[in-house]
Amino acid sequence: MDVHDLKTWLAHLEERGSLKRVSRSVSLRHELAALSQKADGQTALLFEQTDGAPMPVAANIACRRDWYADALGVAPGELLREVQRRQEIKIKPSEVSDAPFLRNIITKDIDVRKILPLPTYHELDGGPYISAGVFIAQDPDTGAGNVSIHRMHALEPDLFGLLVLPRHLKGMIRRAGERGEPLKAAVCVGLDPLLLMASQLVLAPGEDELEAAGGLWGRAVDVAPAPWSGIPVPAGAEIVIEGEIPPDERRREGPFGEFPRYYSPAAEREVFRVKSIAMREQPVFYSIVAAGYDHLLMGAVPREAGLLRDLQKAVPAVTDVVLPLSGSGRFHCVVQIRKTNEGEAKSALMAALAAHYDVKHAICVDHDIDIHRPSQVDWALATRFQADKDLFVVPGAWGSRLDPSAQDGVTAKMGLDATAPLGGLEGHFRSLRIPGAGEAEF
Ligand code: MN
Repeated sequence: MDVHDLKTWLAHLEERGSLKRVSRSVSLRHELAALSQKADGQTALLFEQTDGAPMPVAANIACRRDWYADALGVAPGELLREVQRRQEIKIKPSEVSDAPFLRNIITKDIDVRKILPLPTYHELDGGPYISAGVFIAQDPDTGAGNVSIHRMHALEPDLFGLLVLPRHLKGMIRRAGERGEPLKAAVCVGLDPLLLMASQLVLAPGEDELEAAGGLWGRAVDVAPAPWSGIPVPAGAEIVIEGEIPPDERRREGPFGEFPRYYSPAAEREVFRVKSIAMREQPVFYSIVAAGYDHLLMGAVPREAGLLRDLQKAVPAVTDVVLPLSGSGRFHCVVQIRKTNEGEAKSALMAALAAHYDVKHAICVDHDIDIHRPSQVDWALATRFQADKDLFVVPGAWGSRLDPSAQDGVTAKMGLDATAPLGGLEGHFRSLRIPGAGEAEF
């Protein structure tokens, strides 16, 4: 299948019976989030009517791991290897001059809450948010493109507060500021799941996620210049909000319920001043409930693929990796290896802890453990692990600012080697097996 925009994907989900339409009017304040949470992990939703701006809202469009495999056209067991294979392929976007979002362009008297249906999610959230805004920006020094998602707190009719964690966009804002300029950005709302996933790939600075998206798509992403900034954005976008991030302006943003299932407190943060909103005829808005499966899986699956690549570079014995949803899809990492040398597990653990700042606790297990089954990982820890020699702690490492137990984003990291000694699986660590157990019938 060719998933190239949100509407194509929704049509595909509906055809396979995985989309539920909600026709009655739903309140944007908590009710839309509550219903999304209720259907999470099961069905995609299309809220046809809300008490806000007249535009349907899609939710839970990527809330199952097997849907990512479906979007890539592979069996669920092949998901990671397929993402890994495709993420090695970079395809430059292809420029087109026209796009559906250029039909309606608003540049005067912008009031985002009147134009867009902005939900309020959790109990203590500071206000309505755009949670699924995909920022597209160009490096002021090199021109390299970057794609990343940042939460947007609607503070004023044309002003959002932002959370910009210290990764690529943050560097671009700083470099624009050094020139005394604001950074221009185009925020796309309403994209297909593969483009969303590409925005979460762990790439080096300067590597363009849109080229990686081309790899995931299997063809170049069509891009059209956004009307105000000229930044090339996916032509299939439902809505494109353009504006600028001034280098020095700060407003109180938050609190906001975040992916670890805690509130990220309010603080003085960057702002996005809106200059233009462009959208299709009959656009569809897209809402992500923080800490819901869309949020966790969209981050976990591409990170896993990136980790698998990095880990296999460091330790070829690595066979698989997962960021379990129980660890918020970010903080816990289980690495599977087919051991050929002692020491490989600890090296793989160091590589996992270093590969991404979010990875906090890493566990290495043998190839006979199904890493998608937490009970098997627990069993390996219970029976193949001795805390005095199989555990190491790295104090004071770079961690997640959204982990409430970290101090200003400084965290301790821990590696746990739950592998049996080399050759042990055929000896002292040989696990039980009942002959014929798989085929036995009453
Ligand atoms: Mn990037």
